[in-house]
Amino acid sequence: MNKINKSNKLNGVCYDIRGPVLSQAQKMEDEGVKVLKLNIGNPAAFGFDMPEDMHRDIIRNLRDGQGYCDSKGLYSARVAVYQYYQQKNFPNISVDNIFIGNGVSELIQMVTQALLNDGDEVLIPAPDYPLWTASVKLAGGAPVHYMCDECADWFPDIADIKDKITSKTKALVLINPNNPTGAVYGKALLEELIEIAREHKLLILSDEIYEKVLFDDTEHFSIGSLCDDLPVITFNGLAKTYRAAGLRMGWMVASGKISVMRDLLEGLNMLASMRLCANVPAQFAIQQALGGVQSIDDLLLPGGRLYEQRNIAWQGLNDIQGISCVKPKGALYAFAKVDTKHFNVKNDELMVLDLLREEKILLVHGRAFNWPSPDHFRLVFLPHKDELEPALQSMQRFFDHYRQ
Ligand code: PLP
Repeated sequence: MNKINKSNKLNGVCYDIRGPVLSQAQKMEDEGVKVLKLNIGNPAAFGFDMPEDMHRDIIRNLRDGQGYCDSKGLYSARVAVYQYYQQKNFPNISVDNIFIGNGVSELIQMVTQALLNDGDEVLIPAPDYPLWTASVKLAGGAPVHYMCDECADWFPDIADIKDKITSKTKALVLINPNNPTGAVYGKALLEELIEIAREHKLLILSDEIYEKVLFDDTEHFSIGSLCDDLPVITFNGLAKTYRAAGLRMGWMVASGKISVMRDLLEGLNMLASMRLCANVPAQFAIQQALGGVQSIDDLLLPGGRLYEQRNIAWQGLNDIQGISCVKPKGALYAFAKVDTKHFNVKNDELMVLDLLREEKILLVHGRAFNWPSPDHFRLVFLPHKDELEPALQSMQRFFDHYRQ
């Protein structure tokens, strides 16, 4: 029998957050080795529970969630999303143009499939959350990475974005707050991005899954609330703010100039129908999440668990000679720079593997986030300080002698 190969569509599609380094960690675990996994932003795995009210709503409504629902999502859940974005002054939104998905992940794949013809270009930040790049590729499009500037709080390099626009550019992706850098974009920067999108008639795709995970009084602005004359799709969900990644619940909201994206919305409707609907019981948590007490705030204020852990991670990384890290203003990650001259590092994936073997700590190498050079890694600061502090000491020990 002929070998059964994966399709050519998967050529060049990468999602290395769960790639070969994780496989090695799993192999070690199978052999009984305890590995500290600082690789995935899964709050529940580190004792951050989703709010009790959300549990209750799902349990109470479980019987009503047995059947399929509307492909776009439960009406009550979409109304809750609608009201939330209405309060945030999103222009021209309607319940009809809100889609609930099995996580933002599913919606990212749906929007790229619905939008892109072969060769269409999409501007994506570098570094990025790599599902955006992978999904654009899988949809036949061409991801074009614009650089974010570490020396400017990891803000997008506006000149680089302008340079990379061609007649094939269809959309501009923003991840705000950003994974992996923790950058949160100010209003002035968002206005500049709007100006570029306006001039070049681009669709704006704004991934705001860390919208409320903010430190140091940082304010978050949604780009969708700042323009009514451009097509914008905003993505958010329950995985991070509500610590409920396992529910697989996300939504996308079309706003602004709806008239130019009617055909795209029709395509999204068809793709939503093809997968019938998102998990129904989990949708009952959305109303409670958006309307309930925002208990994440207690974790983020000085003295809060996440606030403390962010500080420990940031300080601990900067204390290691040859490692530096911009202070994350949002999200759950520190994206640290490795001085390649000091460490002579040529392969960041190998560096992360060496750390795993020596200190049983799992990180993700920077190139997994489409960062072009082998000189960064991402650390998840979700573990309790009792685990995080020793982990940073182990990393210090490792980097004190590491050379490639
Ligand atoms: N977008 C960003 C920026 C993320 O960091 C993640 C997950 O880490 C996702 C989307 C996926 O979210 P979900 O769990 O809702 O699929």
